[in-house]
Amino acid sequence: MSENKESVVTRFAPSPTGLLHMGNYRTAVFSYLYARKNNGKFILRIEDTDRERSKKEYEENIIESLNWLGLNYDEMYRQSEHVDTHKKYLQKLIDDGHAYISKELAKDGSGIERELVRFKNKEEVITFTDAIRGDITTDTKDLGDFVIAKSITEPLFHLAVVVDDYEEGVTHVIRGEDHIPNTPRQILIARALGFPSPTYAHLPLVLSEDRTKLSKRKGALPVTAYRDMGYLPSAIINFMAFTGWNPGGVEEIFTLEELVKTFDISKVHKGGAIFNEEKLAWMNKEHIRKQTTEEQLSSVKKYMADYDELLLNRLLPTIIDRISAYGELVNIEGSEFRFFMKQPDIDIEKVVWKDDEPSKSKEYLESIKEILAIIDFSSPQVIKEAIMPYATEKGKGNVLWPLRYSLSGQEKSVDPFTICYVLGKVETISRIESVCNKIDS
Ligand code: GLU
Repeated sequence: MSENKESVVTRFAPSPTGLLHMGNYRTAVFSYLYARKNNGKFILRIEDTDRERSKKEYEENIIESLNWLGLNYDEMYRQSEHVDTHKKYLQKLIDDGHAYISKELAKDGSGIERELVRFKNKEEVITFTDAIRGDITTDTKDLGDFVIAKSITEPLFHLAVVVDDYEEGVTHVIRGEDHIPNTPRQILIARALGFPSPTYAHLPLVLSEDRTKLSKRKGALPVTAYRDMGYLPSAIINFMAFTGWNPGGVEEIFTLEELVKTFDISKVHKGGAIFNEEKLAWMNKEHIRKQTTEEQLSSVKKYMADYDELLLNRLLPTIIDRISAYGELVNIEGSEFRFFMKQPDIDIEKVVWKDDEPSKSKEYLESIKEILAIIDFSSPQVIKEAIMPYATEKGKGNVLWPLRYSLSGQEKSVDPFTICYVLGKVETISRIESVCNKIDS
């Protein structure tokens, strides 16, 4: 692609006829990266000329998604606002003999005659050099005199795209490979109007894991749905950029700025971009890990607002270890972590390890209590080192199970040392005492 850094202009041109999924936004990511890499401009163009199917709410969702992702655009247009310009160029094509009005019977068999505008195709062979795929040659004879407007006042998709790209100064059209068949038609129109053709780059389609077309049912949710599930925008961007491209090398976790630096459009794959949910979850976890403690805390607090601040600080590493997206806390919080906040109900029968004696379990708990009373709760490791010699002597399960269960009320949970550490000394000892009293009664 041209290295003229001043002049690069790319655009993301979605049709607001539904909620766009991740596969659609991947196009925005590549257009954005290419523009920023070349100090160019990135434009958002809402292609809303289909009045019936275009909806304001979808347009709003697109804007909301791009903002949340941080894919800032320099200019925004609505195609519907430029219909007069499209009409002007349509007239010019007719005046110059490149297009003509054709009266035809409607295909629905109604017998109604309608006026279409067709492009007068000179049936040349057209070759364009795709920045990803190299030369693509089409014999336009096969296209016939294709339709470019429903009537003299209703220009259609190809004409609108060509005119808008020209008027908006677009130099690089980066879009899905499903548009490859449209490109020769658009080149013909551009030539007839005397416009320079932009450089084209057709991205590989994003496929589901079973290699069929990506759909919402197959996991490709709108970007805002991932936001609502507590994914990080940086992870979503990283993931989308890596769907059909990677910079080579082993490093896979990149911020948006790092992606801009490393992006190379000629290395975009020609096919086989697979939407891999597991990889997305992994990437999100990695991005969470890279956040500062303050950032992590502020996200966690959205779900655990009623937790004690100090406790949450100590619990944070455990939480970060156990989640891939913050939204998981909606479920986890109610069960897995609840006992940290509130002493759980204890079923005395469950305190005892396997066929050990209740009186023994009580003895172990009391010994542990004494050990804990004199140490510093400075880390889970310190607590572990203090308890382990005793536990090893008496039997690990016999000692550690009653301790862990007494503190958590859960048959499965994080290790007892981490629980002690997070609860703090006072709360830990008080919970142990209350269980010992219960065993007595
Ligand atoms: N509006 C078209 C779409 O949503 C994109 C047109 C283009 O990128 O040229 O598929």
